[in-house]
Amino acid sequence: MENTGKKMLESAHEIIKKTAKSLGLSSEVITRLIEPDFIHEFNFSVGKKIYKGWRIQHNNTLGPYKGGIRFHPNVNRDEVQALATLMSVKCAVAGLPMGGGKGGVIVNPKELSEKELEELSRAYARAISLFIGPYVDVPAPDVNTNPKIMAWMAEEYEKNLKSQNSGLKSNEVLATFSGKPVEKGGSLGRTEATGRGGVYVLQALLAKLRSKINPPAGGQKSKPTVAVQGFGNVGYYFAKFSEDMGFKVVSLSDSKGAIYVTEGLSVETTLKCKKEKGSVAGCYCRGSVCDVRFGKPISNDALLELPVDVLVPAALENVINAQNMAKIKAKIIIEMANGPITEEAYEYLTEKGVIIVPDVLANSGGVTVSYLEWYQNIHNEKWTEAAVNKRLKEMIEKAFESIWKKSVAKRISLKQSAFEVAIERITKLSTA
Ligand code: NAD
Repeated sequence: MENTGKKMLESAHEIIKKTAKSLGLSSEVITRLIEPDFIHEFNFSVGKKIYKGWRIQHNNTLGPYKGGIRFHPNVNRDEVQALATLMSVKCAVAGLPMGGGKGGVIVNPKELSEKELEELSRAYARAISLFIGPYVDVPAPDVNTNPKIMAWMAEEYEKNLKSQNSGLKSNEVLATFSGKPVEKGGSLGRTEATGRGGVYVLQALLAKLRSKINPPAGGQKSKPTVAVQGFGNVGYYFAKFSEDMGFKVVSLSDSKGAIYVTEGLSVETTLKCKKEKGSVAGCYCRGSVCDVRFGKPISNDALLELPVDVLVPAALENVINAQNMAKIKAKIIIEMANGPITEEAYEYLTEKGVIIVPDVLANSGGVTVSYLEWYQNIHNEKWTEAAVNKRLKEMIEKAFESIWKKSVAKRISLKQSAFEVAIERITKLSTA
């Protein structure tokens, strides 16, 4: 089977090397940016089963390592290392005092009972408890892990600390994991944060395009149209908030297919309909009514090729690639999934004038609110949802601003600019 982790790691290294060279950094500094600080690879037992897991701590120049824990049968060391590396970049882009880390376990959690999943999560937490902590490394949920799993892990970590007399206060112990349930020290607004942050970035981008370049297609008066691939956590909230903020959502999809409603669809009613039918296919909803005459079914591939103003891949990686890049008609692409556009397609579309907001900025709302959860725990505070959202907006707009500024000044893509900003911050070339 193809090792996609190896490819991910190679491409992360390639862009870091290219950017670092363009900044005139020495080969020693480049090596430090590439090589992780620590690779923890371990085996641990749950009953009679033995699992392999990792916690990779890439770089902590800016603060404690931060990054999710992934439970998946195809997890491998290269993949975890690539994701840890990209977390260092994402935290730096977002302006967080955090570094990059990632964890993983080779397991198919769908084959486990709830009890087995809990035992596995607790055993993994015991294994990593030696090298994590509120000021050292702060794990979070990722693929197939969730707030409930974070609560089990935080509890197990606390038990382990008690036996070691760590001296940490209970709020500091809580700060060791983010993405916890709200009643167990989690932050309000975290569930919605990635989609919400993406919409704040889109608004900031459109404000620049209106004032500095030209109005979005359709002129100032008509609402910009949006197509979103994926209707999970990220896709749903992106669609919902963009609709709330005056965009016209015309297409949505999930793994079973896509819908296209040219007049604009209702996101909330589509969600209700999806819950009843099990998929968005067949949910042509306007206002509170879902009627087949309003729209038509299209394939997930066709969604990507629609003539919309804004295309939002929010499901899988590599969906825009050499095969379909020439057919993409959107003028703006917001990368809400991680790595939805291959390097080749990225270059082709950028060359064609498509503005692409890279994943390390577009989906950084999630890690930003994870940081705010850590902050609230450390300072023993509990913010209202409005306060969290306000801070998220300020932080992500500030992150966008520095990346936009450099991109315009140096005439480079937003992705190149994001990596330059991140590398400058990590190597302390700049304090901006
Ligand atoms: P999710 O599991 O909640 O949702 C994924 C959605 O994608 C589902 O609606 C699923 O039906 C759909 N999907 C699966 N295969 C598809 C296909 N072939 N075509 C179209 N849709 C398909 O996941 P999520 O949390 O929304 O994450 C989506 C992406 O965003 C991932 O790349 C993830 O790494 C990234 N991301 C998520 C967060 C977060 O906070 N959740 C943060 C940063 C990045």
